Amino acid sequence: MKTLGIIGGMSPESTVSYYQIINREVNRRLGGNSSADIVMHSVNFETVAAMQRAGDWAGAGGMLAQSAQKLERMGAQALVLATNTMHKVAPAIEAAAGISLIHVVDATAAAVQAAGLEKVALLGTRFTMSDGFYTRRMQDLGVETVVPSESVQHEIHRIIFEELCRNRFTEAAKRDYLHAIGQLQAQGAQGVIFGCTEIGLLLKPEDCPLPVFDSAAIHALAAVDFALSDM
Ligand code: GLU
Repeated sequence: MKTLGIIGGMSPESTVSYYQIINREVNRRLGGNSSADIVMHSVNFETVAAMQRAGDWAGAGGMLAQSAQKLERMGAQALVLATNTMHKVAPAIEAAAGISLIHVVDATAAAVQAAGLEKVALLGTRFTMSDGFYTRRMQDLGVETVVPSESVQHEIHRIIFEELCRNRFTEAAKRDYLHAIGQLQAQGAQGVIFGCTEIGLLLKPEDCPLPVFDSAAIHALAAVDFALSDM
């Protein structure tokens, strides 16, 4: 089995999901008491969130590049950056690391295509929805994304940082998210990407009117595919 290097803590709430999904899937595939071979660096999320707010993406990229190098020294054979937003600095991490990064957009786009869909709603932080680094890569991979209006994006983003990342889940947040999904469905979305690793902690696929692509689960399973390849 190959060793996975998880850069986590963004937020810790969803890093728990990655850890659980990866270990449970390895156990499901290998049986017995099998579990994954993982090294992890969990960062202080406030440091990262402050850099995001300040627009210091170079600083954040440098910080996560150091995490990647640390994990590589500990034996990681591929990196799993357990957040969508920080894939904005994936190029800095990839440039610093001698091992590959399992990219969340690649894994998620592949899942959307496997389901035969072309146009999907995207919910995530405002960076993920509007900075282009995410939607352009999706488009290059053949997946068209639709995102909420600016004011709705603002609320989706606020809920992520002020509630979901702090382990708060309310019916009001659920209603807001479902309302946004309904609006995007009316604009032709055939499915919805939970493009933030905490959204799956708030909404379950059965809550949603559209097929769900939960980036955290899809990404974690892609990591398992890598870990168990050539076995
Ligand atoms: N976990 C979130 C994501 O998937 C947001 C936290 C962050 O900014 O990294 O984008």
